[in-house]
Amino acid sequence: MSAPVAVTRGDLLRALERIAGPGAVSVAEGDLLRFSSDYTENPASRPAVVVRVTLADQVPPILRLAQAEGTPVTPVLAASNVGGLCIPTSGGIVLDLSPMNRILEVNEADRFMVIEPGVTWQQVRDYLDARHPGLRFGYSLSPPDTTVLGNCLLDGLTNLSLRWGSMSDWLTALEAVLPTGERVRTGAWAWSQPPACRGPVPGLEGLFINWQGATGVVVKAAVAVQHNPALRERCFYFGRSAAQTFRFINAVARADLCDDLAGLTWPLGKMLFGEARPTWRDPAEPAVMVFVDYSSDDDEVFAAKGRAVERIARRFRTADEPLEGPVSITNLLALEPRFIKFADWPMRLDFMVDHPGGGLTWVGTYGPTSRWPEAVPACSELMSARGFPPAVVTRAMRGGHFGVLRMVTLFNKRDPAEIDRVRTLNAEIADLAWSFGFIPYKTPRWVVDRYRHRVDPGFAALAERVKRALDPAGIMNPGRWFF
Ligand SMILES: Cc1cc2nc3c(=O)[nH]c(=O)nc-3n(C[C@H](O)[C@H](O)[C@H](O)COP(=O)(O)OP(=O)(O)OC[C@H]3O[C@@H](n4cnc5c(N)ncnc54)[C@H](O)[C@@H]3O)c2cc1C
Repeated sequence: MSAPVAVTRGDLLRALERIAGPGAVSVAEGDLLRFSSDYTENPASRPAVVVRVTLADQVPPILRLAQAEGTPVTPVLAASNVGGLCIPTSGGIVLDLSPMNRILEVNEADRFMVIEPGVTWQQVRDYLDARHPGLRFGYSLSPPDTTVLGNCLLDGLTNLSLRWGSMSDWLTALEAVLPTGERVRTGAWAWSQPPACRGPVPGLEGLFINWQGATGVVVKAAVAVQHNPALRERCFYFGRSAAQTFRFINAVARADLCDDLAGLTWPLGKMLFGEARPTWRDPAEPAVMVFVDYSSDDDEVFAAKGRAVERIARRFRTADEPLEGPVSITNLLALEPRFIKFADWPMRLDFMVDHPGGGLTWVGTYGPTSRWPEAVPACSELMSARGFPPAVVTRAMRGGHFGVLRMVTLFNKRDPAEIDRVRTLNAEIADLAWSFGFIPYKTPRWVVDRYRHRVDPGFAALAERVKRALDPAGIMNPGRWFF
């Protein structure tokens, strides 16, 4: 990796101040430190300067200036990607886009909204509840103050992904600034039409999705919002064996009944209740907790969905492997008020981010749900064997065509020996998940390096050519993917 680039020249800092305003450019130690690392074990690296952007019009001159100077630029929102994806590995400018946080439009009739990059999950929830209660959005498990666009550009997963796919599928148009300073509109906006659909045009938004900020800066996005049904239920099933529970989940996903269907292994429940490192489970306790969400406007359809899920559950219950449930969220809260964190969206799972060691990492993957019954127990065993709680999150996506398999590890960021153990663990888990057909998402650089030999050479060459065409000076978020 090239040596970090420092923006020490006073005239460059002054030029940035002329564009963004004096208060918006910072070389203060605290700011540089804040953007040097994230939750993960990925190596820290300091930027030379942080520029807080408030207007889309400030982005083209900043990128033109950076290009002329050959200064790296890393776009950052809440830096919560859990992959080291906005650690400025080559120093340079951190472009903090979080102040650009306006919801510019919500179109209730055609169900889309237009947002700036810094708009957060909580903002969307509050805005829709207050002004458009007939609409709902999908929410990830990430903290409420992290951003929607960051998640869409990284193709993330939310509580409505079973019905409507991963979050890049929800984008209908983007406005982006290329590293050369040129502006481009994609999807329906390319034809100057309202962004109700992506439009039958070449999918140029793909030049910004999953590129981790290496091809340009998105300054505006149109994202689908969904009808908010009158009747909604969240209930839980509790399985004793992972293999049995995932066969049940797969059967429910195929029945096309639910909005969300997710399985969490037992350590996550114990962590929610305050146990820092649960490594032992009483065999009488459930191994997997299943979230089932369904909804309808119609009483009969709603009741029928609940009955249909339960009929499927009956097929999987045996005397040896009871599948307890359904327990509605209301009843669960009456039994155990600490489940309140799972009651509504967006959720703040503070046990993941506010613990004494401070470190959070995972191997998060997408892959074939048919392999869950083998993959979840295998990954859990590996984590246990290495002395870590076998915390695994799964979620069925887009009608169950694929699913999430995410092995979560909390660790002490101040303990170098533990960081080494976490690196080894993640590499072993990634290999294991890979062997079941799962591909790491929000792909950290170490994953790219580890599987580089598996990448189709034609794909790698084309990606390089696209990158060079869009970013000839190679300034955008260096160190991502193959670049
Ligand atoms: C506890 C916890 C739980 C989580 N649960 C989930 C979950 O359930 N589902 C899920 O999908 N994710 C989850 N995440 C991951 C993450 O929070 C989300 O993906 C998040 O929404 C990313 O947003 P961000 O604002 O942090 O983006 P950032 O991390 O700041 O940025 C993401 C990437 O986009 C690039 N980028 C930023 N802005 C722009 C721009 N304007 N134009 C181009 N590129 C840009 C950055 O360089 C970076 O590569 C979780 C994270 C935590 C900490």
